Amino acid sequence: MNIQTVGVVGAGVMGIGVAQNLAQTGHQVILVDISEDILDKAKHEIRNNIRFQSFFKKGDRQESPNTIIEAIEFSTNYKILENADFVVENVTEKWDIKREVYPLIDSICRADCVFAANTSAIPITRIASVTKRADKVVGIHFMNPVPMKPMVEMIRGYHTSDTTIETAKQMLSQMGKECIIVNDAPGFVSNRVLMLTINEAVFLLQDQVATAEDVDKIFKGCFGHKMGPLETADLIGLDTILFSIEVLYENFNDSKYRPCTLLKKMVDAGLHGRKTGKGFYVYQ
Ligand code: NAD
Repeated sequence: MNIQTVGVVGAGVMGIGVAQNLAQTGHQVILVDISEDILDKAKHEIRNNIRFQSFFKKGDRQESPNTIIEAIEFSTNYKILENADFVVENVTEKWDIKREVYPLIDSICRADCVFAANTSAIPITRIASVTKRADKVVGIHFMNPVPMKPMVEMIRGYHTSDTTIETAKQMLSQMGKECIIVNDAPGFVSNRVLMLTINEAVFLLQDQVATAEDVDKIFKGCFGHKMGPLETADLIGLDTILFSIEVLYENFNDSKYRPCTLLKKMVDAGLHGRKTGKGFYVYQ
């Protein structure tokens, strides 16, 4: 299958990165979100990200942000997804929101179009259950920031076909990425561990065992991690962390996934991390 036109649904932290990465690797991209304001902000951020990331691409020919932006069609109208060969869904990590999106794109997109759910924790089999193409639904858990991360976690849902896995691998290869394939379970491999770790790090802060800086320093200085769990939470978005740990809690019915009350309070207060300028740290 020749994957040329790719729909990207949701223009938040991840949708922006996926759209940019696709446009930079020669695809025609259709980026859909619910408001023009969000799409304008997405366009602005993609332009800034290309400029910023070009500093890390030493020796490469510098890309023009305008050329990349021109390869992306920004729209609030789902109807233009009718010509997409492949769709990557990146809407808010809430089942109530995702469950509305899939029947809609299912009714618009071509029958051969593959849907990749870029979810942090929601089972792919559940997502596929609200479509009439369960065999063509796969999980692709992209890492953040998408254009700079060469590896993803791919999740095979109960009905995901081998052909769909191959198409998704081809899509990723066209984007310059490799994948590790895992079976379906809430949080998959990465976030079943990471979300629990971040939640526990917030408990440490709440219990005044250490400051945010010292929690992160222990992971960096002692374990050699590039980032500590609280810095990572700020990068992901504290709202997305809370929604993901809630998905794990609801799906496993296990109290070890109960969200920390400090995390809930910070989300209620609008401290969502880098995307709102303040989380465990302050960003300019
Ligand atoms: P975000 O909150 O930054 O963005 C979500 C976007 O979805 C918003 O722009 C919102 O307007 C849009 N949206 C909501 N309802 C919509 C609808 N009906 N149609 C179209 N757009 C809609 O969230 P994010 O961090 O970009 O996360 C998106 C998905 O990617 C989530 O499922 C999340 O779990 C997953 N994810 C996030 C990260 C991360 O580091 N942030 C990493 C991997 C996967």
